[in-house]
Amino acid sequence: MLNPITILLVTVLSGAMAMAVLGSLWRVAIPGVGYWITANAVGIVALLAFSLQGHAPRWLSFVAANVLLALALLLVLEGCLRFLGRRERPWAGYAGLVLVLLGISYWTFIEPDFNARVTLVSAYHAILYAALAVLMLRGRPAHRPRYNYYFLAAAAVLLCIGHSTRGIMYSFGSLMQTSLLQVSPINVAFLALGILAPPFLAIGVVMLAHDRLAERFERLANVDDMTGALSRRAFLESGAALLNVSLRSGLPVAIAIVDIDSFKSVNDTYGHAAGDQVLAHFAAFVAREVRASDVFGRLGGEEFGVLCPVTNAAEAVVLLDRLRTRLATSTPGELPRGLRYTFSVGVDQWRRGESLEQLMARADRALYAAKAAGRNRVVAA
Ligand code: GH3
Ligand code: MG
Ligand code: MG
Repeated sequence: MLNPITILLVTVLSGAMAMAVLGSLWRVAIPGVGYWITANAVGIVALLAFSLQGHAPRWLSFVAANVLLALALLLVLEGCLRFLGRRERPWAGYAGLVLVLLGISYWTFIEPDFNARVTLVSAYHAILYAALAVLMLRGRPAHRPRYNYYFLAAAAVLLCIGHSTRGIMYSFGSLMQTSLLQVSPINVAFLALGILAPPFLAIGVVMLAHDRLAERFERLANVDDMTGALSRRAFLESGAALLNVSLRSGLPVAIAIVDIDSFKSVNDTYGHAAGDQVLAHFAAFVAREVRASDVFGRLGGEEFGVLCPVTNAAEAVVLLDRLRTRLATSTPGELPRGLRYTFSVGVDQWRRGESLEQLMARADRALYAAKAAGRNRVVAA
């Protein structure tokens, strides 16, 4: 049952299964997916060519089969480079592929040597798997789950070890074998490891792509499209988490609720599109000024919230008033000529044990006071 031809055909089937899984990504515009799908198709053709050994000409079942299988792995690697945003071609990999072609042809037609062929091909695969493992470990992003990257790296290390062992055993002639499809326990073991390669790689890259999709959806859900600030929902969520941290640390948290002044008249005078530009301008202006640890979100319309950890109300007033004067004394070049705007702010400090909603309600009252006092000012509750 466990003869090499069966194993090869099982591998073809597992490649077809991997193809079906990859097919789920056919229509998503994620860099690398096209390479991965092509790699799998090339791999299946290579395996079918291998299985014809003894029945088909050697240029097909030896040379083309080996070169195509090597190309398939190179395409997986290149897809991973694209996925990680790297534009370079792995030229060294393609040069290696030419060497594989020349070596296999030489040791097939000129000086037939099975061990030399296996050693060469194993070395090529081992190097590419090592490169893939390094790429995954180095390329894993800081703010996404790392499991997928470790999964692919671990699979690559396992396959690298398998190919290295195989290459070393054949190069020292410790396996007296003359054909890929010969039945021997060790050959069957190596081929069995080979069965795992297509599903391992396909599942790994599909997990990468799915996480990229999840990242997009999270962004859509958490980030306000027009301004790039957090959405109201994400602001409330991050804010509540921030208060939880402060509950444990005992450090202060300040909130500022900011509302653009007379925004309705901006819309009325310059048009709704100009109003949108003001919102985007304001958000970019604030995002440049606040710290990375501050939570900045669009609460709705032309109203924004800023939560500043390790900051008391007095410090928040200073910070927001600095922003206010800076904006009031600048002429934003990105906005329609003559369009100036100001904003009003209500500030308060979190009281231990109260909810974010209670804190926001007090800051809101301070904001109303700022509006009532004539706008373009910062008022602490
Ligand atoms: P105040 O100084 O008291 O805050 O006056 P205001 O005109 O800024 O406040 P008001 O609440 O009367 O008007 C807010 C306006 O903001 C009304 C609404 O049409 C407009 N608005 C809300 N969301 C958007 C948006 O996404 N784009 C644009 N252009 N306008 C918006
Ligand atoms: Mg307003
Ligand atoms: Mg408002």
